[in-house]
Amino acid sequence: MIIRMSHFDSIEHITSDLPDSPKGQWQNWSANQKSLPNEVFQPVSTSELASFLKNYTGKLRVVGSGHSFSPLVNTCDTLVSLNQMTGLIGQDNDLQTARVMAGTPLHKLGPLLESIDQGMINLGDIDHQSIAGATATGTHGTGASLPCLSDLVKSMTLITLDGSVIECSSAHNKSLFNAARVNLGLLGIVSEIELKNRPCYQLKESIKVIPLKDALANIEQWKHDYRHVELFAFGYSDQVILKTLEITDEAPRQPKAPWISDDALLEFFCKATQKLPKLTPLVHKQIARFVKSSQRVDTSYKVFATPRTVRFTEMEYQVPAEHGPECLDKVIHQIRKNRLPALFPIEYRYVASDEIWLSPFYQRDSASISVHQYHQQPHWPLFNALEPIFDEYQGRPHWGKLHTKTGEQLATLYPQWNDFEEIRKEFDPKAQLLNPSLASIFGAEKST
Ligand SMILES: Cc1cc2nc3c(=O)[nH]c(=O)nc-3n(C[C@H](O)[C@H](O)[C@H](O)COP(=O)(O)OP(=O)(O)OC[C@H]3O[C@@H](n4cnc5c(N)ncnc54)[C@H](O)[C@@H]3O)c2cc1C
Repeated sequence: MIIRMSHFDSIEHITSDLPDSPKGQWQNWSANQKSLPNEVFQPVSTSELASFLKNYTGKLRVVGSGHSFSPLVNTCDTLVSLNQMTGLIGQDNDLQTARVMAGTPLHKLGPLLESIDQGMINLGDIDHQSIAGATATGTHGTGASLPCLSDLVKSMTLITLDGSVIECSSAHNKSLFNAARVNLGLLGIVSEIELKNRPCYQLKESIKVIPLKDALANIEQWKHDYRHVELFAFGYSDQVILKTLEITDEAPRQPKAPWISDDALLEFFCKATQKLPKLTPLVHKQIARFVKSSQRVDTSYKVFATPRTVRFTEMEYQVPAEHGPECLDKVIHQIRKNRLPALFPIEYRYVASDEIWLSPFYQRDSASISVHQYHQQPHWPLFNALEPIFDEYQGRPHWGKLHTKTGEQLATLYPQWNDFEEIRKEFDPKAQLLNPSLASIFGAEKST
């Protein structure tokens, strides 16, 4: 169904109700990306989507849940949303696989899989993304032996611009499969995804504050000792938060709720340090006061997902895993040396390598380092000061987060870049899927 401007509000992040925004404006979660699409198309089935694409000759972008910080979705032409194409299509409990509609949001997927006694092998720290959007950018959690979500795709259905419905997997259309698992919406529109899962399981989360020097010295060992390990480091503190997740059959339990939520505290300090940046080191040095050791046990998808109510923008780079601690150390020193305004913790995770052409983890076990800025503060002064450190390690940026890499620079970071480009040009010969930002990176000369 094509929806004209006046009915946009059924799509997440369409700001028809904001007084200071033009009617029908789309914006992403953090509101750092905005655009005014001419129309929104919400298909209800693969066949409706295929016939729309076959007859459509203009430009378009497909949106998931709008949780990317980078300008992937912006369009002033047609915005396609698969938010009417959600749910479970089929399952194989012997192989532990499940086939789902591509628009399914992760927060619905968890309970759906639990109902068939399956669980996703790993997840990131929120569950608001759609499965197609999350896999299209190489979204990941943490775990040295666990790959990004795109590598958990066993097969997928791609609808191309000429209306063809193409199935691909490692056994069938293998090159396309390697290109399409991290596709940025550049090859067509994914309508169905088959996931490799595992039997439904419980996780025990443990959180504690430890000295930074211990974390830097031991994290390369701890990544082998725990299924999931993660650090939250602070520019001005000698302590870090260590978070680990382990599979358990212990009874579910929750820690005592704090008198004030972490997010309420964070928002308060964001506003305070925005006005008085000199407070940031003082806040960071008190981290052990605010974060208490805790444990909780629950079904995996409930433990993975963390509420994120304080809006921010983010830059994230993946560096070779063995250089992770050294790179994190340099990031912290750069913040201290230049008194950079960086209140949010720096997130440090591990991701296993894969064979997906545009995956930031292509053939490289990686340490993932993310820096965040409060959404009401300028982010580029912080990000620009840190990006050269990631470059020292041939860091690859997260596709859904902010970076300044050009197409030429990215091509040197991805050995299969030209192979992806070949397939992209074959599937989108008239550059219908390139918005101006993507056109500056991919095949700029073909953009119309
Ligand atoms: C608060 C927050 C926390 C986050 N945490 C993590 C994290 O823990 N780990 C991590 O790696 N990332 C994280 N991210 C980044 C996020 O996972 C990615 O940017 C993800 O791609 C967003 O998914 P989405 O459904 O919102 O897709 P969108 O942002 O809407 O789109 C992303 C890309 O997918 C494409 N796309 C969407 N649907 C389709 C489709 N059907 N067919 C083809 N292409 C499609 C779009 O065109 C676009 O190129 C976080 C982001 C936020 C805002």
